[in-house]
Amino acid sequence: MKERTISPDAPPLRFDRVSVSYGPGLDVLTDASFELRPGSMTFLTGPSGAGKSTLLKLAYLALRPSQGRVSLFGVDTARQSRGERALTRRKLGVVFQEFRLLEHLTAYENAALPLRVAGDKEKRYRNDVRELLEWVGLGDRMNARPATLSGGEKQRVAIARAVVMKPDLIIADEPTGNVDTEMADRLMRLFRELNRRVNTTVLVATHDMELIRRTPSDVLRIANGLLSRQGQEAAR
Ligand code: ADP
Repeated sequence: MKERTISPDAPPLRFDRVSVSYGPGLDVLTDASFELRPGSMTFLTGPSGAGKSTLLKLAYLALRPSQGRVSLFGVDTARQSRGERALTRRKLGVVFQEFRLLEHLTAYENAALPLRVAGDKEKRYRNDVRELLEWVGLGDRMNARPATLSGGEKQRVAIARAVVMKPDLIIADEPTGNVDTEMADRLMRLFRELNRRVNTTVLVATHDMELIRRTPSDVLRIANGLLSRQGQEAAR
């Protein structure tokens, strides 16, 4: 299967006049346009119920817009075949709000799953995955199954799984919702490291304005269905 050519300078994510409605009178997003620069870090904020998760679902191709165009890596996703979309999807690392861990796998196995699925040999990735889990504070929980993990621990396994392949674009829905301030900053540093080292673009939905103030970033805000870009200065 041949993929459409992707330019390295193309915005990893771009919305052109995107609207979403869940039904008559249930408009969530109206005429939203923005793009993320390659290697940038952007927070998406707004009150609860404003449409942050909805926007992220559009970005990771779990939802189609009612109107407008969602492009990933310079390609209009509506024009991609199912196979092309699947390939695009592999460039994304997604942290779901509800974690979506596999219950029969350990924390280590969950975090390593994308590597296993990609056919990598365990002996080649074992140390990297262990190091990553140690970094997110799960060094002593690697063999635990999700049922025995706290919400914050599950969240960190989900984050490890999302970053383990060093994706081109990380999309994270409230990834610090269940952890304390110190761990939240540590997780943001992990995203920043990927930003810096492999030019990963990061989009994080959060309603935690303090986290935004502490983290150098671009800021998008949704309120009343409308999306606006705010400078980091505006968030201070
Ligand atoms: P946020 O992530 O900012 O809290 P969401 O994107 O989850 O907001 O939700 C935005 C609005 O859309 C809310 O009013 C929510 O109830 C509604 N909504 C979300 N998903 C659905 C759905 N599948 N069907 C109908 N309404 C939905």
